[in-house]
Amino acid sequence: MSLVIMKFGGTSVEDPAAIGRSAAIVAGRLAAGKRPVVVVSAMSKVTDQLLRAAAAAAQGDRTGALAISSRLRSRHRDTAAALVKSAEAAPLISLIDQKFDSLDEILRGLAAILELTPRISDLIVSYGERLSSRIIAATFRERGIDAVHQDARDIIVTDSQFQRAIPLDAIIERRAAEKLRPMVAEAKVPVLGGFIASNEAGITTTLGRGGSDFTAALLGGAMGAEAIEIWTDVDGIMTADPRVCPDALRVKVISFEEAAELAYFGAKVLHPATILPAVRKNIPVHVLNSRNPACEGTRIASLAPHCSSPFKSIAVKKKLSIIDVVASRMLMTHGYMKDIFTIFDKHQCPVDMVSTSEVSVSLTVDSNDKLPAIAADLSKLADVKYEGRKALVCMVGEDIRGQNGMAAQVFSAIRHINVRMISQGASEINMSFMIDEDDADEAVRSLHAAFFQDPDPTIFDVEARKQLTVNSGQ
Ligand code: ADP
Ligand code: ASP
Ligand code: MG
Repeated sequence: MSLVIMKFGGTSVEDPAAIGRSAAIVAGRLAAGKRPVVVVSAMSKVTDQLLRAAAAAAQGDRTGALAISSRLRSRHRDTAAALVKSAEAAPLISLIDQKFDSLDEILRGLAAILELTPRISDLIVSYGERLSSRIIAATFRERGIDAVHQDARDIIVTDSQFQRAIPLDAIIERRAAEKLRPMVAEAKVPVLGGFIASNEAGITTTLGRGGSDFTAALLGGAMGAEAIEIWTDVDGIMTADPRVCPDALRVKVISFEEAAELAYFGAKVLHPATILPAVRKNIPVHVLNSRNPACEGTRIASLAPHCSSPFKSIAVKKKLSIIDVVASRMLMTHGYMKDIFTIFDKHQCPVDMVSTSEVSVSLTVDSNDKLPAIAADLSKLADVKYEGRKALVCMVGEDIRGQNGMAAQVFSAIRHINVRMISQGASEINMSFMIDEDDADEAVRSLHAAFFQDPDPTIFDVEARKQLTVNSGQ
């Protein structure tokens, strides 16, 4: 049975036209003899708006929170009405209304209690995927696909770390075998919301922002899928974020390790943890464009073929801070680093990059509201300074370490930009450095111009660039 997990991101389900395109893509896979399991995100921007409604309610702005909810209600009702005309339309609209009634009740309660816990936040954001998955399943049926809605929370079971819950693989595997496999065996198409899950007690959790990709990979791993397809709004993994660098090229094939580094270092196109369940079971992942389904996208494979260009892609992670810990005497003694990391651990704050000298240690972390408390604890050990609005630029490619003079080429391409910290060699496939956030876009464009002039045509889609040049008359 050629089981394929197909995940459609927020922009691929943003309005009736996008949902229609996604339905046509699933129908195409069915016609080709595949057995799809479909995972969908919330309609685009809905997760952000739900979080905004929650924040408003928690600050006592009941009217503001309910106004956001009311706009979302209209958007979902209108989308459903535009797509579903059969006898299913009335029950679908009333289901949407019921869900918004209960969401409004939660928001009113929150505006009275004035405390937003991670658990309530997860419950509130879960509405995005709970709604989109219902509308999409009904649309699929309307278009002749034998789709069945399945609440993802009955299958994706996690621990209780709300907002970034850890999946419990054995339970997921069992539930998928019990609930999804029989549907697929009967040639039905299960449709589930991504990102949302529940703990063993049935309380709603989520897998972290961007987590629908993760849901797709978890299901792919649990069910031994033939492939996982991540349908998004760009042609695949590109040599840089196309919003920053319009002449970015599609990467045709990339290794799991390279894709994981890119995702971790900010290439939003994929959730960082997505890759793991797929790697473990050696399931290929394809990143594809729902606006341009004929494009073959990017294949993520266990081993990438040899590439004559040094780098595959450039990722940027913004909203970072640098923390400098400077000891007034020579304190780089045994145990000093341990003390520093114990403090980061206590505040559950992951560190991205570390650089040391005899008397100082610099660390980079996501800018977050724990920084003053972390700095206060660190100041018991040494002098502490921290500075926000930093960005980490990460260049990913095979065997960078083995190539002489690579660092010189990278830094000469951005010689006009002030580099604050450098890390190379931690991984053979990643070279990263820290700069001011305001310089990040310019740095990416300069690096892209320097390293993707003459890209290897076996790895990069150079045809698209030629096409672009012809069309623009250059
Ligand atoms: P979805 O809603 O489908 O999950 P996302 O917005 O999460 O989509 O991710 C797709 C976006 O990721 C693209 O629109 C693009 O701007 C951004 N992006 C960042 N880096 C890259 C990259 N290297 N390749 C492709 N897209 C990238
Ligand atoms: N809707 C969630 C988010 O916006 C999950 C996802 O789309 O992957 O973060
Ligand atoms: Mg995403």
